[in-house]
Amino acid sequence: MAAENGSYFPLMGRETTDHGDDWRLMGQERYLRGATLELRDYVAYSASWEHDHCAFCQRKFLPAGSGDPGARTRGYATTDEHERGAGYYWVCEDCFADFAARFDWHAKGSDRKV
Ligand SMILES: [Zn+2]
Repeated sequence: MAAENGSYFPLMGRETTDHGDDWRLMGQERYLRGATLELRDYVAYSASWEHDHCAFCQRKFLPAGSGDPGARTRGYATTDEHERGAGYYWVCEDCFADFAARFDWHAKGSDRKV
C-alpha cells in the first residue's frame, strides 16, 4: 500500500517563537545573555591568538587581508563590560540578527535596543 506519508508531522504547526532547536545554540546564555556587543573589525586578540570563531555558527574571524574568503573580518564583539573582557567572544552578523532578541543584546554605540 502506498502510504501517503507526509500528512502527520506532530511538530509542524507548533509555535516556534524561540530557537530552542537551533543547531547553533549550545548554552551561550550562560555567558552572552544580556551582553553589550560592539560591531567592529576583527583584530587578533593576541599574538598567539590570531583568529576566533563565531560563538554560535563557528564561522571563522580573521583580521582583514588574511586572504581567507570564508572568514569574516568584522562582527559583534564583547566589550569591557563583559566579565571576560572586550573581544573575548565574537558573534557574526548573521547570528547577531538571528539571536539578538532572544539574548537581549545591546549594540554599543546605539541607543536602539535590539
Ligand atoms: Zn555566526
